[in-house]
Amino acid sequence: MHVSDRLEARLRRSGGMPLGRLGTSLAVATMARRERAIPYWPIDRVRELQQRRLHAVLEHARATVPFYRDLLRDEAVRSVDDLARLPVIDGGLLAADPMPFVADPYRTSGREVFKTSGSSSGLRKPIFWDHASLLLRSARVERDRVVIARLSGERWAAMIGREFLTTEIRHSVARWAGLTTRAHQRLLILPGDFSNRTQRVVWSERTMIPRRPVHYHHLPPSVPFDVAAAHLRAIRPRVVFSFGSYVDQFLHFVHASSADVPLPRLWVYLGDRVSAGGRELADARGCALYSVYSAMEAGPIGFQCEERGGFHLNIDLCAVRVVDDEGRDVPAGEVGDIVISPLDNRAMVLLNYRIGDRGALSTEPCPCGRTLPLLARLDGRRSEIIRLADGRELSSLAIEAAFGAELRQTVQAQIEQVAVGHLRWRIVPYGAHDRAALCEAFVARGRYALGADTVIDVECLDRLPTTSAGKFARVVTPPVSDRSPGASASEGVPRG
Ligand SMILES: [Zn+2]
Repeated sequence: MHVSDRLEARLRRSGGMPLGRLGTSLAVATMARRERAIPYWPIDRVRELQQRRLHAVLEHARATVPFYRDLLRDEAVRSVDDLARLPVIDGGLLAADPMPFVADPYRTSGREVFKTSGSSSGLRKPIFWDHASLLLRSARVERDRVVIARLSGERWAAMIGREFLTTEIRHSVARWAGLTTRAHQRLLILPGDFSNRTQRVVWSERTMIPRRPVHYHHLPPSVPFDVAAAHLRAIRPRVVFSFGSYVDQFLHFVHASSADVPLPRLWVYLGDRVSAGGRELADARGCALYSVYSAMEAGPIGFQCEERGGFHLNIDLCAVRVVDDEGRDVPAGEVGDIVISPLDNRAMVLLNYRIGDRGALSTEPCPCGRTLPLLARLDGRRSEIIRLADGRELSSLAIEAAFGAELRQTVQAQIEQVAVGHLRWRIVPYGAHDRAALCEAFVARGRYALGADTVIDVECLDRLPTTSAGKFARVVTPPVSDRSPGASASEGVPRG
């Protein structure tokens, strides 16, 4: 058994901190070394690791997860190929009642869980993660960290060193030793409660990984583009992180305005995709776009390599299938629904989960030399564009982030673009809430986050209307003919 497997098992048994903060940090560093190598392993070795992890999850689910107790009883599911025998589940099922998917130790006793919520398909659903899995993630990110270091032109060791510069004293000592941060600033344009930031809190509590290094700066995604541009001018970040739709529209804003905005060397995006037009603008200005494919339900599903062509799938951490409407696997090269089975999480087990994205597996190996299979295409469906009174266009992800505090008091929520600058929330509050106060809170938040000219209506309902397919539309926008030419979720956002 590899030392990383033993450390991983120990971390899971103890619930996240077996060896004190320093010891746990060393354990994470040891595991990160292997994480760097795994993408290049012979694929059979990766599949062996995947099989061991699947076996562990199946054992765990059979013993502790109500939804799977009977389904897994006869042990007909043993390998990833057998996963197709299990029912395909989705966000609707999870939103209706998440508890059957939560493992017994994490619903009853005091074992710590990290709760977050995914909101694809109009349903807010709580997702549970155990703290040990979150800690393991601090090692897993090594797979894309090495790519980010290369693309941003930074030395890996210096990049790690700068992560520990949290105080002015440390900063001064580092400067004296030649480690500076001036040309290595990071700007994160992401919600304050975004999982990447929340998990850093867990890391900082249990390891020496600090919560907030000096060269990290934060902005909420609802910030107007000219404010973001001013930050770029002042900070001159080397790397920026945001949603895909944010960088897409920001690049169009920079292109349309005559202002001189220094773009970062590398822009890392997540959550949703960037249009071909946005990509061209980035290329023309020497800004490399880079993406990681992750989800609240799954953690890191895949990551781009230096080729930035597709996503290498972390199949040992999250098994991925691409299926047709009947749930049958489609051959590589054909587009289908992406169905995942995360293998890292112990607090909640989701097997055969239709995540709401479409994609196609590559038929060719990647020239970078990594053996992890490549998702050649990813057509996310997870965001729509909302147009505000002041002419700004925000993705539904950014809107949801701005209304995060209010949305947490709802069971379901849907936003409709009634007209440009006129939005209507349809919400189903948790039973006990004061409905009038909650509606007012939505209106007040809208005025604050989206500008006083944007009109917000709120309708409180007992349940949301469903489409003929029985699904909830998370975002209702006018038919395409009512919008500027070419308007759609991921490609060709309308430009003035
Ligand atoms: Zn590659």
